[in-house]
Amino acid sequence: MKEGVCVYPGSFDPITNGHMDIIERGAAIFNEVIVSILHNPAKEGAFPVRKRLEMIQKACAHIPNVTFDCYDGLLVDYMRIKNASVVLRGLRAVSDFESEFQMAQLNHQIAPDVETLFLMTSPNHAYLSSSVVREIGSFGGDISPFIPACLVDEVQNFLGQENK
Ligand code: ADP
Repeated sequence: MKEGVCVYPGSFDPITNGHMDIIERGAAIFNEVIVSILHNPAKEGAFPVRKRLEMIQKACAHIPNVTFDCYDGLLVDYMRIKNASVVLRGLRAVSDFESEFQMAQLNHQIAPDVETLFLMTSPNHAYLSSSVVREIGSFGGDISPFIPACLVDEVQNFLGQENK
């Protein structure tokens, strides 16, 4: 039996195979996974939010219980709007731990009914991040091992244009 609804918040700038792994595993646990781009004022972002959303949609088209959204505000407020009580996050190296721990604690303090559930990265994605994809792609490197196949051309083109 599956659990209720979870929200997987992030920048997804762009979505990577590491994110896909967390989404697919989350979708096996929950009835619904809401993948949501939360605007982070500290991170301006490379890809426009609309494009990021389109790419998430395209990459997750094969997973029926995944929905997509974006929100400009506090995660805990968004959780209330969506009537969801579980935040899904991925953990890579120890370096993720500190900021994730802080965010989970703060969110729990503001909204005690909100729990954060962490899934450990799969070993083959442990060193993968959106910023690595952006860096390799902007120098014309091969990004195909790191992002869903259906997005390789558009991400490569976008990053190539940006570097001109
Ligand atoms: P944020 O700016 O909120 O960290 P990201 O899009 O970078 O947004 O990441 C969203 C979530 O996905 C975070 O919990 C992050 O740790 C997780 N994540 C990112 N890359 C990976 C990966 N390769 N394996 C597992 N989890 C990942």
